[in-house]
Amino acid sequence: MKINIAIDGPSAAGKSTIAKRLAKELSYVHLDTGAMYRCVGYSALTNHVDLENELELEKMMKTMNISFDSNGNVFINNKDVSKEIRTNEISMITSKVSAYPKVRKLLVEQQQKMAENKGYIMDGRDIGTVVLPNAELKIYMIASVKARADRRYKEYIEKGMEADFDEIYRDIEQRDFQDMNRSVSPLRQAEDAIKLDTSDMTIDEVVTAIQKLLKEKL
Ligand code: C5P
Repeated sequence: MKINIAIDGPSAAGKSTIAKRLAKELSYVHLDTGAMYRCVGYSALTNHVDLENELELEKMMKTMNISFDSNGNVFINNKDVSKEIRTNEISMITSKVSAYPKVRKLLVEQQQKMAENKGYIMDGRDIGTVVLPNAELKIYMIASVKARADRRYKEYIEKGMEADFDEIYRDIEQRDFQDMNRSVSPLRQAEDAIKLDTSDMTIDEVVTAIQKLLKEKL
């Protein structure tokens, strides 16, 4: 029997990496909802849409089709933007546009539709609280700012991207603040979510811990 799994938590806590691994091992579908918000941030930037104008953003979104392939690559109207949406600049813009109710509404509707058939592992900020309140397993994944900045820095270097540790650290703190303090769907732990602090855990250890929780649920 397949269920839906919600993984929420602050940026760079390892949600997507873990969700991807778990999906592969369990033959589930991984949906990285952060990538969808990033597509909105990226489109706003490239189409010069005013970030203060919620209605213009909504209008822009109606012309956008966001899709994924089975390797987790992300497309806007069939154009591969997987790499472009991962820059620091896009992270900050995304945190801003994702605070708008109209932006959230359009993406949440798409996410809920996708997960109608069970077997999804969705990661984001509001999955356990808003998108899939009935998900059978909810994980709230956290890690210290230092651990998260270390990981992001390493990831950028490995991908051959430019990286400045202090800037990454500051941006993570700022994004935490923005994501936790916005009025619509702020990042918070769902009451029935299980908290997992991954600061001192390896990817394998986190995957094993969640598999154990899943076994207990089933
Ligand atoms: O997870 P990721 O860091 O890629 O997400 C980028 C941004 O998208 C987050 O900082 C957050 O502002 C927003 N986001 C959101 N709700 C989600 C997923 C991401 O608001 N479910």
